[in-house]
Amino acid sequence: MITGLAPELAAEFTDRPTAARALGALVPRAYGGLELGYAGYGEVNRTVAERSPSRQSLLTVHGMVCRALVRWGSARQRDEYLPRLADGSLLGAFALSEEAAGSDVRRIATTAREVPGGWVLDGRKRWVTFGQEAGVFLVFARTGTRDLAVLVRRDDPGVHLQPAPRTSGLRDARLAELVLRECRVPADRLLGRPGAALSHIAADALTLGRLCVAFGAWGLAGAALSAALHRSIERHQFDGPLHRLQLVRGLLADAAVAVDSAQLLCRRAATALDEGDEWALGHVLTAKLGASRAATAAAAAAAQLHGAAGLAEGSRVDRFVQDARVFEVIEGNTQLLQDLIADQALARFRDHAARALPSTGPEGHHVG
Ligand SMILES: Cc1cc2nc3c(=O)[nH]c(=O)nc-3n(C[C@H](O)[C@H](O)[C@H](O)COP(=O)(O)OP(=O)(O)OC[C@H]3O[C@@H](n4cnc5c(N)ncnc54)[C@H](O)[C@@H]3O)c2cc1C
Repeated sequence: MITGLAPELAAEFTDRPTAARALGALVPRAYGGLELGYAGYGEVNRTVAERSPSRQSLLTVHGMVCRALVRWGSARQRDEYLPRLADGSLLGAFALSEEAAGSDVRRIATTAREVPGGWVLDGRKRWVTFGQEAGVFLVFARTGTRDLAVLVRRDDPGVHLQPAPRTSGLRDARLAELVLRECRVPADRLLGRPGAALSHIAADALTLGRLCVAFGAWGLAGAALSAALHRSIERHQFDGPLHRLQLVRGLLADAAVAVDSAQLLCRRAATALDEGDEWALGHVLTAKLGASRAATAAAAAAAQLHGAAGLAEGSRVDRFVQDARVFEVIEGNTQLLQDLIADQALARFRDHAARALPSTGPEGHHVG
């Protein structure tokens, strides 16, 4: 039902992002949104990424801010922000990364000082996707030993936004650096309670972010496979089309398998989240890792089959390669995810083994 709506939402979003219903896809109907589940939102992300991974990155971060407000916002915060986030008159951005806090987000150094009636923030956030356009930023900071999440508005005193240099992948993601100098915000901008910002608010938003990136990577992988197939049919060398060459067929087959695996992993993860499956978080990690690697593999095959044309800077296949690289870095880099997935695999193994233990007796698995 929902996936039937995805192409329409994606087309609308690609044409006019800031006036599109896709921005409110995760927002409850009571606030003017569509209240899609994870599977529906994933499909929209995939379909947009087929055409523009940069635009899809707006759906990722805007969705993360919506999600945080729905889950952790006060009634007043939800009333104030969700209707405008849903209709696109306000764009949300996610400001976690800093110079010293990349994959290890515990190293954030932005400070929040409590003053009568509010907070004063100081720090510098890097790589803020669509930060050049956003009206509200979900900022993570520290107050003493506790972390906290604060909604900062573009027009708050002490907010300075600088466009960041373009990255080679997701080059139209309108990245910004968000500098906070004596930035004063009222007390009611605090989201959730101090001490739970990284472990709950950021972690929950990152789960959605990872799912969006996984679906985006699947979309990119599918587009790259189409480009590879098209090229293999159109380009004639050695007395026929490229696809008749056996080693080319190997490239096509591997890319096709990568796309299929991305599809299966993404759908499994989204369904698990929608159904509250106890292993859903592990499925999301697997989907993000598998789909981003699928994107890398399919993009590399497409670029290889385009020969010199695939090396032309800014060409469509060159952009596939660069965009896929970003998917392996953002929302948990590939090596970090491997580490987390190994943890999950061990936990599942231990869980299964512990359940089997009473009947397996002394010969059963030794777990520990
Ligand atoms: C296009 C783009 C958009 C972005 N948008 C946002 C945004 O909207 N908001 C935001 O807050 N941030 C954003 N970021 C930042 C992004 O989240 C970080 O780049 C990411 O967290 C990785 O941090 P880092 O680049 O500092 O790499 P580092 O943390 O320095 O890692 C570098 C490399 O070290 C290895 N490594 C790191 N940790 C481990 C580990 N635990 N185990 C094994 N190997 C490891 C990996 O190979 C990794 O690629 C964006 C970045 C890009 C490029």
